[in-house]
Amino acid sequence: MSHQYDVAVIGAGPAGSVVSALLQRRGWRVCVLEKQHFPRFVIGESLLPHCMEMLEEAGFTEALKAEPRFQFKNGAAFTWGSRYTYFDFTDKFSPGPGTTYQVRRDVFDHILIQEAAKQGVEVRFGHGVTAFDNSGDSARLSVETDEGRQYTLEARFVLDASGYGRVLPRLLDLETPSSLPVRMAHFTHIDDNITSPKFDRNKILITTHPVQRNVWFWTIPFGDNRCSIGVVGLAEDLAGDSETVLKKWVYECPMLAEILDKAVWDNGFPFRSIQGYSANVKSLYGRHFALLGNAAEFLDPVFSSGVTIAMHSAKLAAELLDKQFKGKEADWQGEFAEPLMLGVNTFRTYVNGWYDGRFQDVIYAENRNPDISRMLSSILAGYAWDSNNPYVDKAERRLAALAELVGPATCA
Ligand SMILES: Cc1cc2nc3c(=O)[nH]c(=O)nc-3n(C[C@H](O)[C@H](O)[C@H](O)COP(=O)(O)OP(=O)(O)OC[C@H]3O[C@@H](n4cnc5c(N)ncnc54)[C@H](O)[C@@H]3O)c2cc1C
Repeated sequence: MSHQYDVAVIGAGPAGSVVSALLQRRGWRVCVLEKQHFPRFVIGESLLPHCMEMLEEAGFTEALKAEPRFQFKNGAAFTWGSRYTYFDFTDKFSPGPGTTYQVRRDVFDHILIQEAAKQGVEVRFGHGVTAFDNSGDSARLSVETDEGRQYTLEARFVLDASGYGRVLPRLLDLETPSSLPVRMAHFTHIDDNITSPKFDRNKILITTHPVQRNVWFWTIPFGDNRCSIGVVGLAEDLAGDSETVLKKWVYECPMLAEILDKAVWDNGFPFRSIQGYSANVKSLYGRHFALLGNAAEFLDPVFSSGVTIAMHSAKLAAELLDKQFKGKEADWQGEFAEPLMLGVNTFRTYVNGWYDGRFQDVIYAENRNPDISRMLSSILAGYAWDSNNPYVDKAERRLAALAELVGPATCA
């Protein structure tokens, strides 16, 4: 087993799979180190159409089309009390795909990394990274296998795509507290048995709690009568065991109570929770390394932006590293960190606006302006980096003005 590579990638989630395939396709020798064995569970099941551009470039789309459990997705629906509205992602301002999938991540992530391996990427499952040394001319990673064997892997550059593991931020003391308060989610997969025509299986359904507006729910249908369902709120509001908390809050929402009247909750899939997932770092790159996806920063699940940000960061890093390896100057601040943060900060504006109520006022407004809706639809479809979109370019100012114009929405 050789231990010398152009690039070592930590983690085989969407960021790791996409970046490794993009670099392998450019002719570089890539090794992915993945602590777990796949398929493995991870939350984050609703993709955004912008993802399809990176999946196509990485050569993954044909394999994805063949999986019947993935659900076609063309938008996002929102409900609050008896209010119901939606954004159609095919009716949007920015160019690019308008449809995507909702996926079981164990299946999805496994397909992606298998496809990367077929393209020549070396993937080592059950190999966890425990230490990092960037003092020399190349990077050295200490690796421990799940059988307890230890070895050192050398690479010219390391891309940390370790998600919630946040390997390099922890080892290099790069973590900084997120500006977002500590929220938590409880979730499971149900046999939904939904027959109501009110539920559009081609869209994620986001539900605002009728009384507590900062508590919301996701309903993400898959292609096999299953739905991922979860509740998100402040940790102090959602304390308790996941099954009790989730069911209690779900059945307080009129539309969820109606469409889930025949749902089977007890189907062997565990009830889970995750808390304090928002994270931030002091720097997205350094000597011989860069951080991708959740290893770098995670905002909030409300607009399903996590996998899209992970893949966008992978694309930017692959392009810049290719340039660097070819002996050209690579400006990691100007060509990676700043362009990446444009989209992350766009999402941050609308996430903050969701929780302070302004973006909910806009979403639930009685008569939405069609042109503005198309610009917002673009952002919700993942095109948060399109600075031609005024709601990206001047996100904060535009959102504030629009919220003032439409005024506060009320739960009907
Ligand atoms: C409640 C909730 C709901 C969400 N819903 C959505 C959604 O609907 N849509 C969406 O796009 N996003 C969603 N997200 C975000 C999504 O989970 C992440 O953004 C996404 O999984 C990030 O992908 P990644 O490739 O960065 O990391 P991951 O998918 O987490 O993959 C990282 C990999 O690194 C491996 N690893 C960790 N440590 C080590 C180590 N030491 N050595 C080697 N390997 C290691 C892990 O085993 C893992 O396989 C949600 C998040 C939360 C908290």
